[in-house]
Amino acid sequence: MTATQEPLQQDDVSDVTHSELHDAIIVGAGAAGVGVAIALSHAGVENFLLIDRKEVGSSFESWPDETRFITPSFPSNSIGMLDLNSIAVGVSPAFSMRVEHPTGSEFAKHLQDLASFFELPLQENTDVKSIEKKDGIFHVVTDEGTFISNNVIWAAGEYQYPQMRGFTGSELCRHTSTVPNYGQLEGDDFLIIGGYESGFDAAYHLAKRGCKVHLFDKESPWNEESSDPSVSLSTFSFERMRDPTFEENVKLFAQTPIRSVTLNDGIYEVTTADFQTFQSKQQPLLASGFDGSHRFVSDFFEQRDDGFPLLSDRDESTIVPGMFLAGPSVRHGSLIFCFIFKYRQRFGIVAEAIASSIGIPTDEFIDAYRSWGMYLDDLSCCGQECLTC
Ligand SMILES: Cc1cc2nc3c(=O)[nH]c(=O)nc-3n(C[C@H](O)[C@H](O)[C@H](O)COP(=O)(O)OP(=O)(O)OC[C@H]3O[C@@H](n4cnc5c(N)ncnc54)[C@H](O)[C@@H]3O)c2cc1C
Repeated sequence: MTATQEPLQQDDVSDVTHSELHDAIIVGAGAAGVGVAIALSHAGVENFLLIDRKEVGSSFESWPDETRFITPSFPSNSIGMLDLNSIAVGVSPAFSMRVEHPTGSEFAKHLQDLASFFELPLQENTDVKSIEKKDGIFHVVTDEGTFISNNVIWAAGEYQYPQMRGFTGSELCRHTSTVPNYGQLEGDDFLIIGGYESGFDAAYHLAKRGCKVHLFDKESPWNEESSDPSVSLSTFSFERMRDPTFEENVKLFAQTPIRSVTLNDGIYEVTTADFQTFQSKQQPLLASGFDGSHRFVSDFFEQRDDGFPLLSDRDESTIVPGMFLAGPSVRHGSLIFCFIFKYRQRFGIVAEAIASSIGIPTDEFIDAYRSWGMYLDDLSCCGQECLTC
């Protein structure tokens, strides 16, 4: 499945090549897929399969080499507070890796270690092409045949589905998710479109190299008053803004939507909505976010006004029972679960829903997961702003 294909169709026809009926199939072995798989195991569900088109943690593996986690890891588990970057009860990336802000590659290795430690049933190098539900059973059609299951947990993430649209000529730009290493990009002046975490990360590494950077955002994430890192920049990025090379080399353009990008005689020209023009020989970098994979399963969910799937209080589809969502696309009301420390709080909810549907008692599981902040069923506590003092 590629980002240019149409959404999955429920009426696709398929032949079953793997006849074992699973209790659950998880699509995607990133942080969400591995985390919810471990939660399923903890809840007592054994007959499930974790499918990935590549390998465990492959999105993290393809981050630019210099990019690091913005959320810090700290081994706080000993006092009952889970490490911010942990995806499982009892696990601390800080403790196992001895690093506070892991690189993507380090975190991919961490996920692979967890998959192996918890002996997760893996089906790697298997691309899910479509899904249909026939007679109450999900048929998951892949390039390695069709697998069947009573439930599907969609955890295919966002990173492999970059957003390339938005203005005329956006296809001339290069999305930051395709950059293997900022140090190896040729040139010494760059135009970056998008001023949230990925754009700031690119600007920081290029400025460190001594490159001049113009960074545009249609809003102004670095001026947001919110304490929610899903809305405002992270502390990590604010610190980076104060780095002398950043202050010297990066020029920020807030409230500056882009009208167009053109390429003539090897020169890229970026024109803003208010008709300022900027030129560079380097391909402009696009850091405008991700479409996300959820649109490929859009037939299975009602849509919210913002395009994200509408979920029940069990993170299940409201129209197709047994279809669940896990990961950064989870939304409830105004709450955005786009970081690991946010969306992991729903792993227990999904695992409990599936375990109880097959008759497994879940009281102990709920108590344990709730005490670790991995079973968040009362959302009324969320969305509070920090005090300013
Ligand atoms: C630059 C950057 C920095 C970030 N920093 C942080 C941070 O500091 N802290 C934090 O909490 N979050 C951070 N995030 C967000 C974090 O990366 C995401 O929350 C996380 O990757 C989401 O995990 P996931 O499992 O949902 O998706 P992914 O990690 O993308 O995993 C999805 C998996 O699904 C597989 N897949 C996709 N489509 C298919 C298919 N059709 N068939 C089979 N398999 C498929 C992929 O191969 C992939 O392995 C950052 C994101 C970016 C881009």
